Amino acid sequence: MTRAQPHPRILVVEDETDIARIICNALDDYGFRWDHAATGRRCLQAAQQQPPDLAIVDLGLPDMDGMEVIRQLQDASPCAVIILTGRNDVTDRVLGLELGADDYLVKPFEPRELIARVRSILRRYLRSADDTPAAPGSALFSGWRFDASRHGLTAPDGRDVSISAAEATMLLALLRNPNRILTREQLIGERNVDPYDRSIDVRISRLRRKLEDDPQNPRLIKTVYGAGYLFCSAVAWE
Ligand code: CA
Repeated sequence: MTRAQPHPRILVVEDETDIARIICNALDDYGFRWDHAATGRRCLQAAQQQPPDLAIVDLGLPDMDGMEVIRQLQDASPCAVIILTGRNDVTDRVLGLELGADDYLVKPFEPRELIARVRSILRRYLRSADDTPAAPGSALFSGWRFDASRHGLTAPDGRDVSISAAEATMLLALLRNPNRILTREQLIGERNVDPYDRSIDVRISRLRRKLEDDPQNPRLIKTVYGAGYLFCSAVAWE
């Protein structure tokens, strides 16, 4: 699995040459390996040949809507995503998070700010990969199966359900701590989570839409008001 490698691969999807150069130079300076795609189509081709650990995606691409690129990218090879947008638009941000993006930056941004976000996201993913039990195995719960090593989620009826890297990280945290209240910090493995950061709730609601018969009345992932979330199922690892 690529994200367990010591050198994460980053795919930079940006059509503006100057901005792409600034990003790639900054990644170079900090020793990251990257590929660059100037269009949505090139991004999807590149991801097919070499699935990235993290994609940095400009929403304004010449050939495809950036949101559509992210949707297709997450379907084919779930990875961490940082959105770049020229508009400080809350709808974009929320929609991006709905699609499984992990973070977003509004242009113009400081290269150092981008690097800080990249590091924080990769730390989260690499750690969650490290935390996987030695033989990662599969978690069985309420008829579902989650293969932790390939982030494969299979429904009780045998359907494969696609899940983003961000959702997989969160699901794994829940599956490792069944019937225990997890705080927001514990859910994403970070300290000092901004209480107004909606990204955790957005990911929880995405997970619920995939896992729950009635997402409005969740049975598996319960909200414990003022405390966090509770995963209500027995979990067996194999
Ligand atoms: Ca652009």
